Amino acid sequence: MECRLCGSGKTSEFAAGVTRCTTCDAIFRDSPQAPSKLQEYFEDGYYKRRSNPLRMKVWELLARQYMSYLRRKTSMDFASALDVGTFHGHLVKMLKDEGIRARGIEPDREKVASAVTSGIEQGYFDEDFDPGEQFDLICLNEMLYYLPDGVAALRHARTMLRDGGHVLISTANPSSTMITGGRYTSIENEWVNCFMSKKNFESLDGFELVDYAPFRGNMLHDFQYKSRAYVLLYLAGLKKVNTFDPDGNHVLVLLKKA
Ligand SMILES: [Zn+2]
Repeated sequence: MECRLCGSGKTSEFAAGVTRCTTCDAIFRDSPQAPSKLQEYFEDGYYKRRSNPLRMKVWELLARQYMSYLRRKTSMDFASALDVGTFHGHLVKMLKDEGIRARGIEPDREKVASAVTSGIEQGYFDEDFDPGEQFDLICLNEMLYYLPDGVAALRHARTMLRDGGHVLISTANPSSTMITGGRYTSIENEWVNCFMSKKNFESLDGFELVDYAPFRGNMLHDFQYKSRAYVLLYLAGLKKVNTFDPDGNHVLVLLKKA
């Protein structure tokens, strides 16, 4: 199997129907799932976890992490921003609180209906998505791996970026031994298509890779695999939501339009 990302022939089977490239580290589904899978996942029931106050707090705490990363890595002088896969719009709300004109799209109608701010529309970030304006910042957090072609999605995002604009991505880090060791992978889920690697982000046309910061997602892990009650520890500030770690299973990626 040739690597779908870098074209290398040095690949091996990672799981049934999933290949890992030893040249670039990308992990990808051999035949990408059709976008209709995403609709099944988000709109037709697979991801029907209803909102509740605890879940809302989880998404708020995650959005805070994105804000604190942006504050550390950028000058925050964004006039406008788009958050793709915004859930309830917590990040959009926080960006607005900074004086940034922000809006979001989210496929899950139930989340849109319970959005915490205005400017949240139901929609998909596919080739038909046209926001009708350009942005200084586009956020693609925990969604790039669902898309059939992440590179094409970033090319599409670039057309919506002003000169010097940034893309913030939170995604899986396929170079992490937590993932290569098979402990923390979600790619066996048929709606996950690809984990792009640092090398893939470095070699994107029209972008400069500003930062690649792997981290362990402590809160999401506890929330998904341990007990919901753990969220209280994070809310109280007794545990760190994320811990930066070169071998972390997640990563924050900052790209700049070149
Ligand atoms: Zn490759």
